[in-house]
Amino acid sequence: MTTTEQPTLAQRVGARIERARLMRGLSLRGLAEALDGKYSHTTLQKYEKGVICPDTGALGFIARALDVRPDYFLKSNQLKLEHVEYRKHSKLGKKAQKQVKEEAFEFFERYLEIESILSVPYEALPQYDLTNVSLEELAAVIEEKALKLRKLWKVGMNPIPNVHTMLETHGVKVKILADRDGFDGFSAFASTEGHRIPTVALSRKNADDVKSDVTRLRFTAMHELAHLILLLPDYLKPAEKERACHRFAGAFLIPKEVFVGIFGQNRIKISIAELVAIKEEWGLSCAAIMARARDLGLITAGRYKTFCILKNKWGWYKTKKEPGSWMGNEKSSRFKQMVYRALSEEVITASKACGLLSISSAELAESFDFVG
Ligand SMILES: [Zn+2]
Repeated sequence: MTTTEQPTLAQRVGARIERARLMRGLSLRGLAEALDGKYSHTTLQKYEKGVICPDTGALGFIARALDVRPDYFLKSNQLKLEHVEYRKHSKLGKKAQKQVKEEAFEFFERYLEIESILSVPYEALPQYDLTNVSLEELAAVIEEKALKLRKLWKVGMNPIPNVHTMLETHGVKVKILADRDGFDGFSAFASTEGHRIPTVALSRKNADDVKSDVTRLRFTAMHELAHLILLLPDYLKPAEKERACHRFAGAFLIPKEVFVGIFGQNRIKISIAELVAIKEEWGLSCAAIMARARDLGLITAGRYKTFCILKNKWGWYKTKKEPGSWMGNEKSSRFKQMVYRALSEEVITASKACGLLSISSAELAESFDFVG
């Protein structure tokens, strides 16, 4: 197929079958097995390559085996994810990377579909070009950009009650994925119809996991946003870019001026109780608060190092959770709200709502009652 030719229906459906299969982490043989041998892996391969087009019966079986709705295969392929940036890239295998990408992507497609149905205006994410900033100035410029974004988004200088909702309000699509070893999050732009849609995928640890602290989710979300918003200088090494994004996350979540005010300068002794109090108020982990204090020169590098040694000795994130908790839940219902609104206004049918929400008609009937 040359680039000017439009893909055939068989090719489009085939590409979607492959993506759904990758989303479930299955090989072609694995899918053939899940189909109880109704279709051989070579037939499935022909479907995926667009050599033959499966009939509706076959699509129904494949949809059931992959736990997607049959209309998933008929959607257009206009949305494309570019530059997927994984945090802790190396710890997530190639297959798992494809899986999280497709899982998030499938949600972003549904999200953009309902926004398009409701004609929600597109909001562009600001881009801060730091490519010509010197290494000496970089930290100060990042602090300044974090403040600039707070101003632009009109969030004042107070703690951010819900990072997830804040991002979605400003056009960033956020997908929370189930816990997966070695995966914290990724960010990417999805291109569609001439727009670049910012997307972030995050992993929510199981409640009993020693790393399940919701403050980590908030921090990772802001770190991933930094990847999308900052154009960092080319001379930075990958680890330095990570640190720059950490810096932005901290600077946004607790602005310098506020932090210096509550923490004070040249601190020698700091108690866990104090860190917990700041954590409860601002939604940053104790570890992130100490890192912020070091970044701003409120404690020495040596003091920070001592804290890290102690933290390991206490077994934080290894054998137990960090003390203190953040009261917010970091959940967003924006997507659901839009679907229910469209359904109430009869802009979409019940079956479309089921497709968008990925639920059965029985589940929809249970949740949907008119109040007026
Ligand atoms: Zn990163």
